[in-house]
Amino acid sequence: MASDSEKADAMEQTNNEDGGCGCRLQCFDRISDEMVMNFVRDFNELKTKDEQDMFLQGLIEPDSIKQRKPRKPIPKKRNSNFKYYVYNNDVRIRVCKRVFMSFHGITDKRVRRLCTLLLAGEIPTDKRGRVGKIPKDSNNKPCQQVIDYLEASIF
Ligand SMILES: [Zn+2]
Repeated sequence: MASDSEKADAMEQTNNEDGGCGCRLQCFDRISDEMVMNFVRDFNELKTKDEQDMFLQGLIEPDSIKQRKPRKPIPKKRNSNFKYYVYNNDVRIRVCKRVFMSFHGITDKRVRRLCTLLLAGEIPTDKRGRVGKIPKDSNNKPCQQVIDYLEASIF
C-alpha cells in the first residue's frame, strides 16, 4: 500500500537543485517546448507586477512539513518547503524551483518573497473556522444597555 507515489514523493524530497534542472522530478521529461512557450506567453500577458505575483503565488504551495523543533536555526539556503507548479491546459504539473524560476524569468529573491507572503498571509482553511463568532445580541438593540444605564443614573 505504501506505493509508488509515496516512494516518488520521498525521492522528490532528496532533490538538490544542482546543475541544470537534473532534479528527481525530471521536469523536462514531462514538459515540452511548446508547453514552455505557453507558460511564458501566459505569464507575459500579465501586465502588472501584482498580477504576476498573484499568478505566481497560485502556483506555489507550502509543503506540509512542520518545523516545530527550534533546535537548529533554519538554514538560510534551504527553501524547499514549497512545491512549485505550472499549468498546462488546466493540468497542474509539479516542477522544481529551478525550472519554475526559469519559466517565468524570475529570481530566487522574488520566489522567496512570494513564499514568505504566502505563509504570512494565506494560512489554509483550518484556522478560518474559528473566526466569525458574532455576538448574537449585537444587532438587537445594541444600545439598550446604555440607555438603561443612563436612565438608571439620571433618575
Ligand atoms: Zn526539475
